[in-house]
Amino acid sequence: MSGRSTCPRCGSPISWIEKLRRGDRVYYVAVHYLGYTKSGGKVRKRVRRCYLGPEEYEYVTRLHRDLGIVLKGAIEERRVVHYLDAFLEALPRANVDRPTLVEILNKLRYLATRLEEYVRKLEELEKEEATRGG
Ligand SMILES: [Zn+2]
Repeated sequence: MSGRSTCPRCGSPISWIEKLRRGDRVYYVAVHYLGYTKSGGKVRKRVRRCYLGPEEYEYVTRLHRDLGIVLKGAIEERRVVHYLDAFLEALPRANVDRPTLVEILNKLRYLATRLEEYVRKLEELEKEEATRGG
Protein backbone atom coordinates (compact mmCIF):
# COMPACT_ATOMS: atom_id res chain seq x y z
CA MET A 1 0.00 0.00 0.00
CA SER A 2 1.36 3.44 -0.76
CA GLY A 3 1.06 7.14 -0.10
CA ARG A 4 -2.31 8.59 -0.77
CA SER A 5 -4.52 7.20 1.95
CA THR A 6 -5.33 9.00 5.17
CA CYS A 7 -4.51 7.56 8.57
CA PRO A 8 -7.69 6.49 10.38
CA ARG A 9 -5.96 7.25 13.73
CA CYS A 10 -4.64 10.78 13.28
CA GLY A 11 -5.96 11.92 9.88
CA SER A 12 -2.50 12.63 8.44
CA PRO A 13 -1.46 11.21 5.08
CA ILE A 14 0.13 7.76 5.39
CA SER A 15 3.66 7.57 3.95
CA TRP A 16 3.70 3.80 4.01
CA ILE A 17 2.30 0.83 5.89
CA GLU A 18 4.47 -1.51 7.94
CA LYS A 19 3.59 -5.09 8.66
CA LEU A 20 4.76 -6.36 12.05
CA ARG A 21 4.80 -9.97 13.07
CA ARG A 22 4.39 -10.87 16.75
CA GLY A 23 4.36 -14.61 17.12
CA ASP A 24 1.67 -15.84 14.78
CA ARG A 25 -0.20 -12.53 14.60
CA VAL A 26 0.26 -9.77 12.05
CA TYR A 27 -0.16 -6.12 12.92
CA TYR A 28 -0.31 -3.10 10.68
CA VAL A 29 1.21 0.25 11.47
CA ALA A 30 0.76 3.50 9.53
CA VAL A 31 4.07 5.33 9.21
CA HIS A 32 4.22 9.12 8.84
CA TYR A 33 7.55 10.28 7.45
CA LEU A 34 8.71 13.47 9.15
CA GLY A 35 11.99 14.05 7.32
CA TYR A 36 15.46 13.15 8.57
CA THR A 37 18.10 14.27 11.03
CA LYS A 38 21.87 14.17 10.78
CA SER A 39 23.89 13.47 13.88
CA GLY A 40 27.44 12.24 14.16
CA GLY A 41 27.66 11.75 10.42
CA LYS A 42 24.65 9.44 10.44
CA VAL A 43 21.37 10.16 8.67
CA ARG A 44 18.34 9.06 10.60
CA LYS A 45 14.82 8.94 9.30
CA ARG A 46 12.27 10.59 11.55
CA VAL A 47 8.92 8.86 11.55
CA ARG A 48 5.77 8.72 13.63
CA ARG A 49 3.85 5.46 13.79
CA CYS A 50 0.14 4.88 14.31
CA TYR A 51 -1.11 1.47 15.25
CA LEU A 52 -3.78 0.31 12.81
CA GLY A 53 -4.69 -3.05 14.20
CA PRO A 54 -4.18 -6.75 13.82
CA GLU A 55 -4.58 -8.17 10.33
CA GLU A 56 -5.03 -6.22 7.18
CA TYR A 57 -8.74 -6.77 6.88
CA GLU A 58 -9.41 -4.57 9.89
CA TYR A 59 -7.61 -1.69 8.24
CA VAL A 60 -9.41 -2.29 4.97
CA THR A 61 -12.75 -2.59 6.77
CA ARG A 62 -12.13 0.72 8.48
CA LEU A 63 -11.46 2.41 5.13
CA HIS A 64 -14.62 0.87 3.70
CA ARG A 65 -16.57 1.99 6.73
CA ASP A 66 -15.41 5.57 6.09
CA LEU A 67 -16.46 5.29 2.45
CA GLY A 68 -19.78 3.80 3.55
CA ILE A 69 -20.42 6.79 5.77
CA VAL A 70 -19.66 9.20 2.92
CA LEU A 71 -22.05 7.39 0.58
CA LYS A 72 -24.71 7.08 3.27
CA GLY A 73 -24.46 10.83 3.85
CA ALA A 74 -24.80 11.49 0.14
CA ILE A 75 -27.97 9.41 0.00
CA GLU A 76 -29.56 10.56 3.24
CA GLU A 77 -29.00 14.22 2.47
CA ARG A 78 -30.74 13.73 -0.89
CA ARG A 79 -27.54 14.82 -2.65
CA VAL A 80 -27.82 11.81 -4.95
CA VAL A 81 -31.21 13.04 -6.15
CA HIS A 82 -29.70 16.44 -7.00
CA TYR A 83 -26.75 14.80 -8.77
CA LEU A 84 -29.13 12.71 -10.89
CA ASP A 85 -31.26 15.76 -11.73
CA ALA A 86 -28.13 17.69 -12.75
CA PHE A 87 -26.96 14.72 -14.81
CA LEU A 88 -30.30 14.48 -16.63
CA GLU A 89 -30.29 18.21 -17.33
CA ALA A 90 -26.71 18.24 -18.63
CA LEU A 91 -26.99 15.11 -20.75
CA PRO A 92 -28.53 16.64 -23.94
CA ARG A 93 -25.80 19.32 -24.05
CA ALA A 94 -22.95 17.03 -23.09
CA ASN A 95 -20.39 16.07 -25.69
CA VAL A 96 -19.96 12.42 -24.73
CA ASP A 97 -18.90 9.63 -27.08
CA ARG A 98 -21.04 6.56 -27.61
CA PRO A 99 -18.85 4.05 -25.66
CA THR A 100 -18.96 6.30 -22.61
CA LEU A 101 -22.74 6.66 -22.93
CA VAL A 102 -23.07 2.87 -23.16
CA GLU A 103 -20.88 2.54 -20.05
CA ILE A 104 -23.06 5.03 -18.17
CA LEU A 105 -26.19 3.24 -19.37
CA ASN A 106 -24.90 -0.11 -18.09
CA LYS A 107 -24.02 1.39 -14.72
CA LEU A 108 -27.47 2.95 -14.43
CA ARG A 109 -29.13 -0.37 -15.31
CA TYR A 110 -27.04 -2.08 -12.62
CA LEU A 111 -27.92 0.70 -10.19
CA ALA A 112 -31.63 0.31 -11.03
CA THR A 113 -31.48 -3.43 -10.31
CA ARG A 114 -29.74 -2.84 -6.98
CA LEU A 115 -32.21 -0.10 -6.05
CA GLU A 116 -35.18 -2.36 -6.80
CA GLU A 117 -33.68 -5.08 -4.58
CA TYR A 118 -33.07 -2.58 -1.82
CA VAL A 119 -36.58 -1.09 -2.02
CA ARG A 120 -38.06 -4.61 -1.89
CA LYS A 121 -36.01 -5.41 1.24
CA LEU A 122 -37.16 -2.19 2.91
CA GLU A 123 -40.80 -2.98 2.07
CA GLU A 124 -40.41 -6.43 3.65
CA LEU A 125 -38.88 -4.89 6.75
CA GLU A 126 -41.72 -2.36 7.01
CA LYS A 127 -44.31 -5.16 6.68
CA GLU A 128 -42.53 -7.16 9.39
CA GLU A 129 -42.54 -4.19 11.72
CA ALA A 130 -46.21 -3.50 10.99
CA THR A 131 -47.26 -7.09 11.84
CA ARG A 132 -45.19 -6.95 15.01
CA GLY A 133 -47.29 -3.94 15.97
CA GLY A 134 -44.25 -1.68 16.14
ZN1 LIG B 1 -1.49 8.44 12.02
